[in-house]
Amino acid sequence: MSKVGKVFLVGAGPGDPSLLTLRAAELIASADVVATDALVAPEILARVPKTAELIYVGKRSGAHSIPQDATNRLLIEKAREGKRVVRLKGGDPFVFGRGGEEAEELAAASIEFEVVPGISSAIAGPAYAGIPVTHRAHATSVTFVTGHESDDTTGVNWKALAQLEGTIVFLMGIANLPMIVRKLRENGAPATRPVAIVSKGTTAQQRTVTGTLESIEQRAKGVATPALVIVGGVVALHDTINWFESKPLFGKRVVVTRAREQASELKRLLEDAGAQVVQFPTIEIAPPPSYESLDAVIEAISDYQWLIFTSTNGVDSFFDRLKHHGEDSRALANVLVAAVGESTAEDLRKRGIEPDLVPPKFQSSALLPLLEEDQKGIRTAVIRAAEGREELIDELRRRGGEVDLAIAYETRKVTASADELHDIDIVTFTSASTADNFFETLPNAKVIESAMLASIGPTTSEAIRSHGRPPDVEAESATVPALVAAILRACRARTS
Ligand code: SAH
Repeated sequence: MSKVGKVFLVGAGPGDPSLLTLRAAELIASADVVATDALVAPEILARVPKTAELIYVGKRSGAHSIPQDATNRLLIEKAREGKRVVRLKGGDPFVFGRGGEEAEELAAASIEFEVVPGISSAIAGPAYAGIPVTHRAHATSVTFVTGHESDDTTGVNWKALAQLEGTIVFLMGIANLPMIVRKLRENGAPATRPVAIVSKGTTAQQRTVTGTLESIEQRAKGVATPALVIVGGVVALHDTINWFESKPLFGKRVVVTRAREQASELKRLLEDAGAQVVQFPTIEIAPPPSYESLDAVIEAISDYQWLIFTSTNGVDSFFDRLKHHGEDSRALANVLVAAVGESTAEDLRKRGIEPDLVPPKFQSSALLPLLEEDQKGIRTAVIRAAEGREELIDELRRRGGEVDLAIAYETRKVTASADELHDIDIVTFTSASTADNFFETLPNAKVIESAMLASIGPTTSEAIRSHGRPPDVEAESATVPALVAAILRACRARTS
């Protein structure tokens, strides 16, 4: 029997990629074909497996788009080939999303299908603007209306709408805002009725404009689409519960220069604070050209008094390699362990190793005052990348110690696309090498002229300074949370 295909009409949520449902994520991960609207967030499309076919459909994507009947045919054709087809739509598929029409076509063609509701912009947009669509004191009903019907004779019952005491949410209404206002006024809605426009709702570019039926046209001039028009008393609550746009880094464009492989925690914390993160990795973490020096240290591990880890990459690579040799943390039973940086220490703790020494600063030379003055007879292995500051190794050798460098990984330069490097408010630096690479690859110094430069610690700050400008903030300890905390403090100080 040939494989039977199936189509899933899936809501992708309103814009914020974290509002995707678990069911949607599951289906995307197992899709053979994903047919998506152009508005679906890139973070969601990044979940489409490399083995799946990704097709842009719908009217917004310009040149590559295909019209509705062709979309219907495509879904049917792919399902008949036995494929699992995910049809991704912005918001909820059945809220002004033409999901109903697609489902009818699938039913008519006897193709099996499922509908996966999504969080509609009609509800999430107001929620992110601090406007509850219902509220016991203000609105006992909410009505979703298409604002697309420019023709006066079409289905919208303006008389009934104008008389509603509840909330009205217009989708696709921005181009017709003058008509919406006029129709409501003509049918008896008072000029003082509150109105809000929520543009690019739930995204880092969200903007809310409030006014009344009288003033909103004037105030909303130039707002970007997609946008919602919200009419009703609940709009007044925006002033008190505007939780999203009032986040400390809301609307700020923040550059993360860290390698993509390491950027997730920083990205998440910045986004939690409302920032729009621009990834501009200047390096990537790769295996070392050879494991020879690391293997030599692992094989002779009981001959060492000290192991020094200078980064989480070093820790990760060391333990991967240890495992490769069929060993685990017990191999470190008789050796002292030093960790440079709180994150490095934390990474060791996760593997059951409590570091014996963590210098107060995220700087390998900060270990020097803490280590024996006389290093004679002491054998140390430093686990790090090939390139790194030599001060620690040189000084230990000068004191008479025997020091081996174990090259555990390599940082390679990459050139990210500079397209997103505009209107930058903050640039974050998490190591001296990312700072060096960033300034070397920066196409135009003007881009960051007025940006705040944020450094994770003294070595990084020194590297920033060497490029002609001191950092504006430095983290109190060398961790990503401390870096974000320092940025938040500086932003608060600037605005107060
Ligand atoms: N199915 C979608 C709506 C599709 S109609 C949903 O449930 O959200 C397209 C309209 O949705 C746009 O014209 C706009 O009015 C609204 N819309 C979609 N995304 C939006 C967003 N992020 N912010 C504000 N409005 C949005």
